[in-house]
Amino acid sequence: MISHGFLKNIDAKGDYPLVEEYLKNRYGDLEILRLRQIHSDMIYVDATGEGDGIIITKPSVGLIRTADCYPVVIFDEAAGIAGVFHSGWRGTEQKIVSKGIERMRDLGCRDLKSVIYPGIGFCCFEIGTELVGRFKAAGIKSECRDGRIFADLKSAILDELKNGGVSEVTDNSCCTFCGGGYFSYRRDKTTARHATFVAVTN
Ligand SMILES: [Zn+2]
Repeated sequence: MISHGFLKNIDAKGDYPLVEEYLKNRYGDLEILRLRQIHSDMIYVDATGEGDGIIITKPSVGLIRTADCYPVVIFDEAAGIAGVFHSGWRGTEQKIVSKGIERMRDLGCRDLKSVIYPGIGFCCFEIGTELVGRFKAAGIKSECRDGRIFADLKSAILDELKNGGVSEVTDNSCCTFCGGGYFSYRRDKTTARHATFVAVTN
């Protein structure tokens, strides 16, 4: 069985004891795999380290934390394989979601489904002019509004999922910056993060 979720504002700082407690209550003694996230395209399989994607192929829980970056869960129920990926602009530029799909297919996944959770929207994700060329090269749409430039991370991620042949995408996202009550690093400049997890259970 595969299950997943997004924990909104459960811990405001520190070591996320409430996230761990929630996961322990829900999943018992299953190992929780978490990363030291570095805005990379580094993906681990049944392991952790410095990176931004975890794929699990046996009973365990993968956990990432975000505030504005997009958390993306991808899974193949029949194969019992699931992944969770941290796709901010650097991760999206490096196509971490596409690379995750590729790794999951190499591991035997056939029918992939995905859920995308809250991140910063096209409404609010303002970028500097120096990034426009990089975003364009990476296929991330941007547009100018009243002299300010905004970029659309979510549609670039949805394109990756579509191009990767993911059969079903559930969009559970809304904008963390303006969407009401979400942690937003760009708005608040704090260490508060949401947690997104995916679990494989027997
Ligand atoms: Zn917004």
